[in-house]
Amino acid sequence: PLLPPHARVFVAGHRGLVGSAVTRRLTAEGYEVLTRDRAALDLRDAAATEHLLRQERPDAVVLAAAKVGGIMANKTFPVPFLEDNLRIQLSVIAGAHAAGVPRLLFLGSSCIYPKHAPQPIGEDALLTGPLEPTNEPYALAKIAGIAQVRAYREQHGASYISAMPTNLYGPGDNFDLETSHVLPALVRRFHEAKRDGAERVVLWGSGTPRREFLHVDDLARACLLLLREYDDASPVNVGCGEDLTIAALAETVREVVGFSGDIVWDTSRPDGTPRKLLDVSRLTKLGFSPVIGLAEGIRSTYEWWLRRQ
Ligand code: GDP
Repeated sequence: PLLPPHARVFVAGHRGLVGSAVTRRLTAEGYEVLTRDRAALDLRDAAATEHLLRQERPDAVVLAAAKVGGIMANKTFPVPFLEDNLRIQLSVIAGAHAAGVPRLLFLGSSCIYPKHAPQPIGEDALLTGPLEPTNEPYALAKIAGIAQVRAYREQHGASYISAMPTNLYGPGDNFDLETSHVLPALVRRFHEAKRDGAERVVLWGSGTPRREFLHVDDLARACLLLLREYDDASPVNVGCGEDLTIAALAETVREVVGFSGDIVWDTSRPDGTPRKLLDVSRLTKLGFSPVIGLAEGIRSTYEWWLRRQ
């Protein structure tokens, strides 16, 4: 089998939004999860990473470690978004092959697709046009990762695969207002406005861009399905198949948090790509559908964050 029962799986990035969700899911389904904290292993260090993988010889690797951030973080820090991601991918994918790890799942992102790709975006849209400039360094690194996975398949027959998740959210997300993605930022902004009795909340951009959101626990379920059943060179999109405007998202978050004031749009902040809806038919055919609705997912994420305050 592609993922033997009780397999030992090394999750790179186990403290992050994606890695922690994948770790929970693997554990719940009886797999043994192997991790290393950042202090014990710098994944950008190829020699150290290969050494660890040779020593532990896991049955599979999930590469969920990445330098990630929202639109402003990507614009402000293009160097680590390009270099850290390239380095992590080089270490982990090459290291897994060198150590004889038979199975690997690489997590990319929907921003790898061209800015003006036809919607919904199919996997074959990859490399058909220019990228969205606000996250081009990150996207180029992730595209290189997909190419690396494919190269190991072609040259060495490795059962390595790539998944391309849409915008994710959930417990473990980054709620820092300058560097986070939109959903945790909105939760925090509305919460603080309500707490402070503010009359309005200022959000970025025009509110017109459309985005698709998936709860990270749904992504983790999709990852296990792919690890068990999928073995092809094409990446697989992972999303819920529906998008909404940032303004509609803001309305939903406002209701969940219970803020009754106004929303003001700061159009000096970037909008980013106009629309980013994935075509998820390939994953749907494998039998996957998400189970966590957006309002419900926002509510539980809000509660998770409140418990940590
Ligand atoms: P993107 O999906 O790569 O563009 O990244 P983000 O999740 O950071 O932003 C998505 C959209 O939400 C963009 O159009 C932002 O301008 C908009 N947005 C509105 N308010 C905020 C906010 O407070 N933080 C962030 N990160 N984005 C916001």
